[in-house]
Amino acid sequence: MKDVFDYVDQHGPECVRELQAFLRQPSISAQGKGVAEAAKMVERMFSSLGAKVEVFRAEGAAPLVAAEIRGDGERALLFYNHYDVQPPEPLDRWEHEPFGAEIDGGRLYARGVADNKGDLVARIKAVEALLEVRGRLPVTVKFVAEGEEEIGSPGLDRYAKEHPEAFSADACIWETGGRDEEGRLELTLGCKGLCYAHIEVEGGSYDLHSSLAAVVPNPAWRLLWALNSLKNEKEEILIPGFYDDIRQPGPGEAELVESLPSSPERLAKSLGVERFVLGLAGKDALKRLCFEPTCNVCGLSAGYEGPGSKTVLPSKAMAKIDMRLVPDQRPDDIARKFEDHLRASGFDDLRVTWLGAEHPARTDPNARIVRVVRDAVVELYRKEPSLHPTSAGTGPMYQVAAQFGTPAVGIGIGNVASRVHGPDENVNVSDFLEGIKCMALVLERFAG
Ligand SMILES: [Zn+2]
Repeated sequence: MKDVFDYVDQHGPECVRELQAFLRQPSISAQGKGVAEAAKMVERMFSSLGAKVEVFRAEGAAPLVAAEIRGDGERALLFYNHYDVQPPEPLDRWEHEPFGAEIDGGRLYARGVADNKGDLVARIKAVEALLEVRGRLPVTVKFVAEGEEEIGSPGLDRYAKEHPEAFSADACIWETGGRDEEGRLELTLGCKGLCYAHIEVEGGSYDLHSSLAAVVPNPAWRLLWALNSLKNEKEEILIPGFYDDIRQPGPGEAELVESLPSSPERLAKSLGVERFVLGLAGKDALKRLCFEPTCNVCGLSAGYEGPGSKTVLPSKAMAKIDMRLVPDQRPDDIARKFEDHLRASGFDDLRVTWLGAEHPARTDPNARIVRVVRDAVVELYRKEPSLHPTSAGTGPMYQVAAQFGTPAVGIGIGNVASRVHGPDENVNVSDFLEGIKCMALVLERFAG
């Protein structure tokens, strides 16, 4: 691979400039800013590889840019990425312009550079390097770049159903990833699913004098009682059937957790919490983080929340609940069980609106792509990566990969100080350049 790596070294500055140009184009899906322009840039980058490019458009959704370059051999590898970014706000917390793409002390600063424009460009450049040096690719490469990941990928399911051929591959390299505190690359084999509920209870048509509490039902109490019925103090989720479809982690997956270098105690400290739920520590905490679903109160409000006292009986109470799901829970099924439970418990006066749904997904750690990526990392970085059976977070891995039976591995160019979604998001320029080599090596080794 020396020839390809030399090419990357020689063309490094050019690759960085191209990434900077992409970063300077805002593409904030939550605010609808610059998304169409960014999609155009992705289309141009794919075209410049000589790829067969298709831009899929669905009513009310950001375009999905797909590309394919035929390679030697039977195998096809899919790169999943997104070209949208989180909003940069609060702007006054940034020391570098969010869309300036400045390099300072070896770091490249911009919204979206770590999540995940840097990875998308690194992968494009890896393909370019192989094509320029060898004239052909060892495997067929597909790209799928969506523009709505940061708002929950609402259009992706439809795109995947209508254009399955754009997604079909033998393995998938997931959007992003990075290095841990000790510089070890983290490979992630899954994502949790999600079910997000907005709950409202209404009482009087306006906030009433609190003396009326003797006779008028209080929506805040109704909401609290309902929430109380969802989970107990032993952290058990009480929705009937909630745990029914959970697949116990396979032996390979449980072992991965045992071998993880991360320290939950250090994590607790960095989060500013004194203890974990149920007094969990060590690997037990990690296992729970990986393999347990959650039922979490994200927001709660009712009545007077200002300073001092105001005696009032609120007319309305609201809660937002997210449930992170694990294989094989299904968001539609969990939503139905949630509503059935509220109704059966006498809370049919609560109005539930579903704001987001995502299936969970987990790759078998014995899948060939896992070994290929791990070996490529060891070969290039001379350091064993850590393998995480899943991210505790959520992403559309089911729609892109798992529903087609495609194993997926997350790897990327970020690090613990990358401030993903935060101010001064950044990556090391050297990690970006190494990331290009790493992806070229993965393609080469995947051919096999
Ligand atoms: Zn992302």
